[in-house]
Amino acid sequence: MIIDSHLHISYLKKQKTFTTIKRDLLNLMTKNKVDYAIVIPDNVPNPQCADLDELSKLVKNEKKLFMIATLAITKINKSNLARIDTMFKEKEAIGFKIFPGHDPIYPTDKRWLPIILLCQKYKLPFIIHTGVNSGHPEVAKYNDPKYIRDLALKFPKLKIIIAHYFWPKLDYCFEMTEGLPNVYFDTSALADPEVIKDSGGIKKIKDILVKTIKRRQDSIIYGTDWPICSFEKHINLIKALPISNELKKDIFFRNSLKLFPIKK
Ligand SMILES: [Zn+2]
Repeated sequence: MIIDSHLHISYLKKQKTFTTIKRDLLNLMTKNKVDYAIVIPDNVPNPQCADLDELSKLVKNEKKLFMIATLAITKINKSNLARIDTMFKEKEAIGFKIFPGHDPIYPTDKRWLPIILLCQKYKLPFIIHTGVNSGHPEVAKYNDPKYIRDLALKFPKLKIIIAHYFWPKLDYCFEMTEGLPNVYFDTSALADPEVIKDSGGIKKIKDILVKTIKRRQDSIIYGTDWPICSFEKHINLIKALPISNELKKDIFFRNSLKLFPIKK
């Protein structure tokens, strides 16, 4: 079984409807034997990437697709919190993602508190975008793992997933997350050629994943960041890791099944 815990319903260059992209996604999943996918919306209106409202229509009645909730920090108010609460309660959304670095907002910003409490209440993960944006290394100051460390220590019951391993500074991210049993990593974008090159090569990526899974067996979940990154490259990256088949199964699906309530 494979669960892709991080992808988007979006298009890159050629304009497509979200319904067409969803069909392409489901076909690609069948072709690559991916059983379930967790779709992450954009937190601002974006004609190229489905947002919360679009996505809840798109994944409804799709047995293989699940979704994450998100909100811009300025949109956290009583009515939106009630909506997220209902989405969590009904398992319409199975986690919440924030985008520090896309937004000039820190993970430790106090305005996230009601969202964090909702994630804890429903035992759903809080996902944090990390790393540089292409051509904009300065944005990584907002998602520095030192803040994630503070958050993880302050909320030991909160399950935190770090997306993109704070590329290109993988070693620093590994060190900053030492001794934090509530911090997890997804593999999204780690098989992307630019990410590999800037992070010190494919051996470096593999080494950090092996070190991480050996440090704590449940700490890595599989994700791609499709359509920006490829299904095949990410599947091949995990298959090529010098670890046991059991650990590969943990990455491909078992750890996700522990973190997310995947059933419809
Ligand atoms: Zn992504």
